[in-house]
Amino acid sequence: MYSQPTLNVVIPVYREGNHLNVVIQEVIAALEKVTNKESYQIILIDDGSPDNTWDVIKQISQDYPILKAVRLSRNFGKECALCAGLEMAKGDAVIIMDGDLQHPPHLIPEMVSIWQKSDADIVEAIKISRGNESFSSKIGAEIFYAILNQLSGYNLKGASDYKLLDRKVVNAWLRMGERNLFFRGMTAWLGFQRIKIPFEVASRISGRSRWSTLNLMKLAITGVTSFSSLPLHLITFSGCLFLTFAIILGLQTLFFKLTGRSVDGFTTVILLLLIIGSLIMISLGIIGLYLARIYEEVKCRPRYIISEIIDEM
Ligand code: UDP
Ligand code: MG
Repeated sequence: MYSQPTLNVVIPVYREGNHLNVVIQEVIAALEKVTNKESYQIILIDDGSPDNTWDVIKQISQDYPILKAVRLSRNFGKECALCAGLEMAKGDAVIIMDGDLQHPPHLIPEMVSIWQKSDADIVEAIKISRGNESFSSKIGAEIFYAILNQLSGYNLKGASDYKLLDRKVVNAWLRMGERNLFFRGMTAWLGFQRIKIPFEVASRISGRSRWSTLNLMKLAITGVTSFSSLPLHLITFSGCLFLTFAIILGLQTLFFKLTGRSVDGFTTVILLLLIIGSLIMISLGIIGLYLARIYEEVKCRPRYIISEIIDEM
């Protein structure tokens, strides 16, 4: 289809300075199996790392002119860093991968040849095992994907951010203007022809994962709230359910009152108060979640701010 397709590899990095050199070498080695020097470019996004990551990037970029790098003004989170990378990438296909070798670069040639030989627009690597993750994060991921699947209909189980996107997919992705980004979900929403290839998540080359439990929970809430408004409808549903109970209980109370058999009913009152009280609080919380999303969106702030750029080409 393309005479000489150009490839971009986008890697968001946060505190990956210690091993970035090795990562870049492996990625280049993988890329050179399928393409020549003129037709690929690696784009690194330093997501406001407080360590030596940016210095390392500056140093590596002197050895590798195919490197383009952006430094964000602070830590905006992986999703925003990815967005910065996708906006920079101008190639015919863009590969997104992590900067810790957990997404094995040796899959790149396979991804590229599938993209060239089939009519797939997205080649996605699917985790067949989650690597050595803690039991709680495995369970957390299971529950999150099960809920998301129920609510939104997108089955993202095993999905990773390791993907090859065709230019038209990247262009479509960039048209999505939301501030609360959930990359995996957004690419699922886009549709297009996709082919999945399985992979085993490798161990981190060094350092540790920078996703805190709080950040993962935030991402999970973004995932659910931006792909389904069902929780809001559940509130209405539980309201209707309680109305039915209220009518039955009300009629019974009236009946006892009129027939002079009024019960003391203290327990019932307390129980109802507690149940209805907590349901109202939860409902307000759910509405609050959506309201907060709307507030963040209407502010229309940029998704990231760039402080420095290295572009040798
Ligand atoms: N990352 C980022 N910003 C952050 C946290 C992580 O750009 O605030 C990058 C990180 O450098 C890595 C990728 O996102 O390339 C995945 O992060 P990590 O390995 O910490 O997460 P995990 O593998 O546990 O999902
Ligand atoms: Mg990782």
